[in-house]
Amino acid sequence: MSPEPLLQGPRIFRPTTANLARLAALLRRGELVGVPSETVYGLAADALNPAACAKIFAAKGRPTTDPLIVHLASAADLGRVARTNPAALALATAFWPGPLTLILPKLAIVPDLVSAGRPTVAVRVPAHTVFRRLICLAGCPLAAPSANPFGYISPTSAAHVRDGLTGTSLRAVLDGGECRVGVESTIVDLTNPSRPRLLRPGGLNAAAIERVLGQKLGLPHSKTIVAGTAAPAPGMLSRHYSPQTPLTLHSRLDARDAAKLATDEVCLLLRRPANADLRMLPAERVRCLRWLSERGDLETIAKNLFSTLRALDGEGWRRIHAAEVSGVEGLAPAINDRLRRASA
Ligand code: AMP
Ligand code: MG
Repeated sequence: MSPEPLLQGPRIFRPTTANLARLAALLRRGELVGVPSETVYGLAADALNPAACAKIFAAKGRPTTDPLIVHLASAADLGRVARTNPAALALATAFWPGPLTLILPKLAIVPDLVSAGRPTVAVRVPAHTVFRRLICLAGCPLAAPSANPFGYISPTSAAHVRDGLTGTSLRAVLDGGECRVGVESTIVDLTNPSRPRLLRPGGLNAAAIERVLGQKLGLPHSKTIVAGTAAPAPGMLSRHYSPQTPLTLHSRLDARDAAKLATDEVCLLLRRPANADLRMLPAERVRCLRWLSERGDLETIAKNLFSTLRALDGEGWRRIHAAEVSGVEGLAPAINDRLRRASA
């Protein structure tokens, strides 16, 4: 008897002109392509083709109650898919291309599957130039959620996409390098422009958005939504972006705390501990220490967060201990949001 054939993973393509043309043709034919962005890698399909978008839900195991973000090559295309308003145009001018997603009333051209039956659509212009070139070549807006099995940690490299979606209908991933930001976009609901709401903290700090709008962002109608029910933003699921290894979140954690953990538990620090602290620990304790950055800066912590959780998930630890970052500046709210969901 011949052995079982190995599962064929999607092929990774470098972003050459010829490859971009090839992948754009795949998208036009209604196929899926893994795409790089500055936030996390996306699983893209022609946003105006319902059969193509259905493949996204199937590949991710994503419930069809969870709507998709539509990606445009330019803010000038916004009026093709959504009804705009002055607040949306002000934010688009200030922050696109960039990690900000706007929720607006949708136009009929957007399939109901993309919006999960809602009258609104989520729209973004990504900052990754290779992604925008692909959108231009495909000639259609691209619907793309994160390119991971539903609920798991989002991918920040082409290899993560291949590893997570082998065995699905995904055949091709465009390699645009490691994601620069590393956490998903900030989502702002502008359906009612006089009452803008923050649906998900992300790559753009809410204070910058509030300065442009000249008003505070409200919170979602319901802060946390139970899995399986219709949700205003399913990134709001209390458990999401999660490693398989249980994660305990601490308000503070340092190298000395690692000494108190069991030997099969790993301690994920925000920054590299001081050499003096490392020398104080026995060798088997140093083994269970990991850190997200050398200096503790938010950009590096965010950039390394998902890839480090993924790596730890593959190392067989019984539990991951992690610490929240302090403050509400920059990427701090997004980092803490993802850590809380990973620990839920
Ligand atoms: P992902 O790209 O996997 O992070 O998923 C896209 C996120 O955008 C999800 O959390 C969606 O709920 C959110 N989203 C997409 N469309 C809408 C919409 N029409 N209203 C509210 N949230 C949306
Ligand atoms: Mg996602």
